Amino acid sequence: MPLSEELDMATATFESTAPGTGAVVGVFPVHDTDAVTETVARARPAAEHWAALGFGERKLRLAAYRGYLARRLHELADLVHRENGKPHADAVLEITLAIDHLAWAGAHAPRTLGLRRVRAGLLAANHAAYLEYRPLGVVGVIGPWNYPVFTPMGSIAYALAAGNAVVFKPSELTPAVGVWLAAAWRAAVPDCADVLQVVTGAGETGAALCRAGVDKLAFTGSAPTGRRVMAACAETLTPVLLELGGKDAMIVDDDADVPAAADAAVWGALSNAGQTCIGIERVYATDAVYDRFVAEVTAKARDLSAGAHEGAHYGPMTMPGQVDVVRRHVEGALAAGGRAVVGGTVDGALIAPTVLVDVPADADAVREETFGPTIVVSRVADAEEGLRQANASVHGLAGAVFSGSRTRALDLARRMRSGMTSVNSVLTFASVPALPFGGVGESGFGRIHGEDGLREFTRAKAITRRRFPLPVDLMSFTRPEAAADAVARVIGLVHGRHR
Ligand code: NDP
Repeated sequence: MPLSEELDMATATFESTAPGTGAVVGVFPVHDTDAVTETVARARPAAEHWAALGFGERKLRLAAYRGYLARRLHELADLVHRENGKPHADAVLEITLAIDHLAWAGAHAPRTLGLRRVRAGLLAANHAAYLEYRPLGVVGVIGPWNYPVFTPMGSIAYALAAGNAVVFKPSELTPAVGVWLAAAWRAAVPDCADVLQVVTGAGETGAALCRAGVDKLAFTGSAPTGRRVMAACAETLTPVLLELGGKDAMIVDDDADVPAAADAAVWGALSNAGQTCIGIERVYATDAVYDRFVAEVTAKARDLSAGAHEGAHYGPMTMPGQVDVVRRHVEGALAAGGRAVVGGTVDGALIAPTVLVDVPADADAVREETFGPTIVVSRVADAEEGLRQANASVHGLAGAVFSGSRTRALDLARRMRSGMTSVNSVLTFASVPALPFGGVGESGFGRIHGEDGLREFTRAKAITRRRFPLPVDLMSFTRPEAAADAVARVIGLVHGRHR
């Protein structure tokens, strides 16, 4: 698929390069404010047409899109591998998840959002009441580079299924994937080509999208940039959805399956080179299992290899600047008395698996998002202390609990201060389209995925219809003087007995 067709829209260009090798993947225009405004203006009539099609027609076109993606899954996975650096197999998994979400969003939009009757209640008993969730119009999506298909598609699929047009600004590190996704839409759904468009560039292009008059802005990235996005959107009262990463914790309880917990922790922390917003960054293992858990994690992490070669378990860091963050966290943890039982030196974009223990709770490696292939394991007296430490974070995106007791695990999961928690696995909630995805605190607000994710890109519309007149119309100047007293007596009978 050509990656250069948008080049005539702007003069300045930038390159995207393969992490590790630096090979050029593609050249893209830097869309300035005018180009972004033009793109959003083109999306307006497309949004109206798309909304007017209705759920059934949209579902057919969303199915054509996912069919197109499924047939070219390996082509897209290869591009993700080249531009983001992750292994081809991980790219395949990511795209598979995105396709599944597209299918769910298309199938569930009618029942979740469509016009339905609700009970009118006592005071409006002679009326019918209707509720529906109408599309917002044009939604701006600013996406990250770590899951360049799955993460933006969490907003794009649900916004489209809800009847909106989308203007997508991929990260400047993964523009080729964004351009591919929009080109695939045009090819699969040619009669609604402008319903999904892409603009490319760096932060200024994203900032221009925030100010372009879109009806909602869905952002995934860091908390500092999220604040800037929200401030820019405040100028036009554009609502925002913020997905800002986390510092997710796993609790390993006394009766947990320790080998399973260790396997999940290693995958949750190190896959995708740890560049996963819902990745496991901290583990709180109880005294009873700590030594066994650390031994298992150490053995498993030592077996992993990082690189761009065939068979590598994860690739190089996608964003060069992130290497410094990981180094600062690892070195800070070691200087504060921590020990690296695996890895411990950060030198270049290929970071070896790193397992840290005995790290003080106030170290950056425990408090800030590391976003690298590292994991900090801490000993706690019991799961309650693990939960307290897990919750002692400004972030609150997701987490995991490993326990042999279903009741205890569910109780811990429910009290974990996060948007999502998996029991006896990691990250599973992201693969369940019916479950909402999003965080609390510094991890942001708003939800993608599930019914909440569909509603996130809509406005509720309430309608009443009078079915028959009442002998006394309370909302009329013709009502008799005694009417209000009669209503007060009824309300007294119905509600007054409650204390
Ligand atoms: P940023 O938050 O800086 O960028 C995220 C997206 O926002 C990118 O598309 C970026 O464009 C765009 N952007 C940057 N500045 C602005 C602006 N002023 N207005 C509007 N959009 C803007 O994240 P980075 O990619 O720089 O990563 C930094 C850190 O963020 C990581 O270390 C990690 O901790 C966290 N992160 C979290 C993710 C998550 O899944 N929650 C995903 C990615 C990062 P461009 O890339 O072109 O600059």
